[in-house]
Amino acid sequence: MIIKGIQQFTERYAQDINEETFLGFPMESIVRAEEKLTASNVRSIAYFSMEFGLAPSIYHSFQTSLPTSSANMFTGHRVFSNLRAMDRYHQIYIDKVLDIPIYSGGLGVLAGDTIKAAADLGFSVAGIGILWTKGYFKQSFWFDLGQMPDELRWDPYTYPGLIPLENTIAIKFEENESIYLRLWKYYVYSCDKQNVVPLILLDSNIEENGPADDIRRRLTDQLYRSDNAWWKIIQRTILGIGGMIALKELGYSINLYHLNEGHAALAYVENAKDVPKENREELKTHFAYTCHTPVEAGHDRFALNELENILDDEHMTILKEEGLDKNHKHLVNLTQLAMNTSASINAVAKKHGEITRLQFPTYADKIKTITNGVHTFTWISEPVEVLLDRYAHTIGEWRKDPSLLRNVSNLRHDREFRSALWQAHCANKRELAEILKSWFFDENVFTIAWARRIANYKRPSLILQDVDRLLKIAREVGPLQIIFAGKAHPNDNLGFTFINTMLERIDSLADYRDVIKIFMLENYDTYFGHLLTSSVDVWLNNPLPPFEASGTSGMKAILNGVIQVSTLDGWVVEAHEKHIGRIFGYVPPEGVIGTENDLHLEDDSKKLYETLEEVVKLYYDSFHRGEVRLDSEWIDMMINCISASGYFSTHRMVKEYNDMIWKLS
Ligand SMILES: *Cc1c(COP(=O)(O)O)cnc(C)c1O
Repeated sequence: MIIKGIQQFTERYAQDINEETFLGFPMESIVRAEEKLTASNVRSIAYFSMEFGLAPSIYHSFQTSLPTSSANMFTGHRVFSNLRAMDRYHQIYIDKVLDIPIYSGGLGVLAGDTIKAAADLGFSVAGIGILWTKGYFKQSFWFDLGQMPDELRWDPYTYPGLIPLENTIAIKFEENESIYLRLWKYYVYSCDKQNVVPLILLDSNIEENGPADDIRRRLTDQLYRSDNAWWKIIQRTILGIGGMIALKELGYSINLYHLNEGHAALAYVENAKDVPKENREELKTHFAYTCHTPVEAGHDRFALNELENILDDEHMTILKEEGLDKNHKHLVNLTQLAMNTSASINAVAKKHGEITRLQFPTYADKIKTITNGVHTFTWISEPVEVLLDRYAHTIGEWRKDPSLLRNVSNLRHDREFRSALWQAHCANKRELAEILKSWFFDENVFTIAWARRIANYKRPSLILQDVDRLLKIAREVGPLQIIFAGKAHPNDNLGFTFINTMLERIDSLADYRDVIKIFMLENYDTYFGHLLTSSVDVWLNNPLPPFEASGTSGMKAILNGVIQVSTLDGWVVEAHEKHIGRIFGYVPPEGVIGTENDLHLEDDSKKLYETLEEVVKLYYDSFHRGEVRLDSEWIDMMINCISASGYFSTHRMVKEYNDMIWKLS
């Protein structure tokens, strides 16, 4: 037995695991991390998140001698374009192991990037999440029907690096009924492979819960399943209460429980029931909560009677003491519960901090701000990575400390660097062109992308608001290529409507393919996130301020020198003075939150078209059929982007978490 509790695993993977190696990575790093997490004299953190986007296909892939089940391979992705004939006969094939499908979007990717950076920095952290056996959902687009969600299938038992432990835990409910959960581990290695953060995943699809059709086996099947309140509460119970029991079962000695969003807020309730009332204030110093959204739907509220169907009296008593919604006393509000029971609260960008203090004045003094970042080594593209290494003499050891990327601005007057940077971008864009060649993607044509979760406030269809105006720009200033990707939550009717509108408008441009090509890619995921944020010319970010708490895809784009066309919201507020592109659109008056329903589509689309016109003109003035104007402002902006990206890394972010909250040595 090499690691406690994984005999079964070692048998299965006998060839891949031994005293020295763990699927091609050093075993020693695992042993050391496990020792620290179980030692009572080492300070450790547990990081709870409903979703984790780990992107192993673009970061670290484990090597296994077992054949990989086809269920875990990336399959074909269809495209919805304004060249429908090609959509019918072609798909995008990517021959890679699927990223573990236990995330839906930015929140999960942030959680993944956070634990990767924690590993890079050698911090003693364990992640706690859920093994979603059916992932989020599989998306297809149908003209006239819009988005159709399908069941996503994958096989955790043959996924490289995922380990089913022998340990199972039970959450006990009143009538002596229990839910049993198997624990899984996935080791997230640091870049240099010297450290790991174990990620513990809970799974209810096991025999102890009864025959295959027992509902208990499906509790951890679909992320953000929201058929009714019962499903939502049960999933939050498994994460918060189950997660707490799992940490005990593994013998981890945890000093601080970090809740990435309010989903896991029941963790406090589980802990508090064993703590005398007079010690509960002290207990709260062991909890930290990160709030991720100013959007109403992002804050869970449940009726007391619905909670009573699931939780016992002990839990309910604490919930009533700490979690009642201040405006609706028959509701428990998980955001409020998390805020009441965590000594530390933080927002995820400066602007978001201001908004959160306005929304929750009771806690205003307690709300800190730590601006999000992205994991540099996951999201950088190879051509840019190679280029930065070549200039390490000027930039410094940016692999050890990504904040050194700010020194890229010192290369502004280096013509050779400017040329090489443009070449690196062209190499990235060529990769995209290759993938979309059946649709005649042209690498010499200006390309802009909007790709993220389809949500109302993100205004996915803004650039399609007035297709005639768009066409006019394409004809008079220069041809355009536009790429869209993103999933709408299956119960989000507004999201649906957006997708329908977009499909219709894309189709209406079928006769204008000579000047405008539009591609809507199915199943946006971390693989496409990486591809798109590094290969297009402009990253479009047009949320309605102030509802984008942070946003992170633009941070991935600037790391790769992709310039921004953005409204002034989220992280962009902290970066726009560095001239990373163009800013446009509505800005709410100081101290005003406004409403998500007033999307300012008319006004802001006009402003977007004006901005686009300027940017497209600059593009064609700078680059024309392979000819590059090296002194172009465009290349200045690309340099500003990479230089600004040094700040927006999870290395800086996790260091701030540690200095302000975690206090690990
Ligand atoms: C980075 C990323 C996101 C987050 O995008 P936002 O800019 O925060 O909207 C969502 N989904 C995937 C797959 C990503 O890689």
